[in-house]
Amino acid sequence: MKKKRPVRLQGKDLRPESLMMTYGYHPEWSEGALKCPIFQTSTFVFKSAEEGKKFFEFAWGLRKKSARAEPGLIYSRLNNPDLEVLEDRLTLWDEAEACVVFESGMAAISTTLLEFLRPGDTVLYSEPLYGGTDYLLKQVLTRFGIRPVGFRAESSLEEIEKILRHGGTSEKLGMIYVETPSNPTNAIVDIAACAEAARRHSTRKRRVLVAVDNTFLGPLWQQPLKHGADLVLYSATKYMGGHSDLIAGVCLGSSELIDRIKGLRSFLGTMAGPWTGWLLMRSLETLKLRMTCQMKNARYVADFLVDHPKVERVYYLGHLPAQDPQHRVYRKQCTAPGAMISIDIIGGESAAFKFLNNLKLFKLAVSLGGTESLAEHPSSMTHSELVPETRHRLGITDKMVRLSIGVEHPEDLIADLKQALDAV
Ligand SMILES: *Cc1c(COP(=O)(O)O)cnc(C)c1O
Repeated sequence: MKKKRPVRLQGKDLRPESLMMTYGYHPEWSEGALKCPIFQTSTFVFKSAEEGKKFFEFAWGLRKKSARAEPGLIYSRLNNPDLEVLEDRLTLWDEAEACVVFESGMAAISTTLLEFLRPGDTVLYSEPLYGGTDYLLKQVLTRFGIRPVGFRAESSLEEIEKILRHGGTSEKLGMIYVETPSNPTNAIVDIAACAEAARRHSTRKRRVLVAVDNTFLGPLWQQPLKHGADLVLYSATKYMGGHSDLIAGVCLGSSELIDRIKGLRSFLGTMAGPWTGWLLMRSLETLKLRMTCQMKNARYVADFLVDHPKVERVYYLGHLPAQDPQHRVYRKQCTAPGAMISIDIIGGESAAFKFLNNLKLFKLAVSLGGTESLAEHPSSMTHSELVPETRHRLGITDKMVRLSIGVEHPEDLIADLKQALDAV
């Protein structure tokens, strides 16, 4: 799965952040332009009819890619330089062989699931999931005879096995779909345990895949491919884009799997446009800077909140007690706690609303991962689609508020939280 870092200096691999400005683009392609321009074009001119024929043979898989012969540019639904350079750059962070970019996170997730699942299949998924993914599994894929079966995010390998055995699902298992840490409770799923369950239920005819939505911590603080996942998915709208000004999605994995997803992307037309690709390349130059600053800010904010008398509970990965079984999984799988914090405010929904309505620097909006700090109320907003009983079971209560921490000065963020809590 791992691809060797392609750029070395004095015998050492260069780190991704050193390559985000230049990797995969050659100025001689574009009149010496230092930056990769926006290739705002729907189609590409062939040098000859013979070349056009050859490019189409690659596109239909009639001719194999090789070191000497690479597929050429045909039409922007199939490929475009902004997407190809971006895809190459994105492989560096997760050390993936290949990457495919989409016009939204949901496009990445739906195209991937449609490529690998068939009528009669079961998809085992961690709970809770992002609302859009939850709807896709329960309301859309079920129309195609695909059965979703949930497991609690915190489950051990034994508990996952029990669900597979008792649900009568094991022989039809097509995929294990994981979101970790889960939204909004920050519960962690053990990716290696899911990979082991998938291995046990794979047959010679069919490999059960593990796909991980890594939007919350990745690619800086969690790299699922290293823990046995086959595919990593992102809503690039969040940390990767990072400025709350675009919608995009990403999937990474082996060339074999990504080629299949790219094939379906061409026919569903879910690829990102060149402008989105260009904006994402610009964002990736500061990905590490932004995510590191946000992670550090979140620690100050979480430490302030945990001592506040109006806050009943803080859900923050940096505060997991050592004796909590989740702490062991966190230490094994994550390199930092990220910048998402949820809190329970004493006094229920009315207190939570009062707090939200009094925030000044934090903006009251859904989404996350941008440079500005955001706050929202999961039970009435992002997770309102779940039936109340499920929400309750997963601990998503009326008193919960979710915070996405940005790059502001941490003391200004704390001052805002303090005055809004005082107003409660
Ligand atoms: C936002 C989000 C998605 C959906 O991504 P879009 O870019 O909005 O389509 C999927 N998963 C998670 C965890 C998200 O936060």
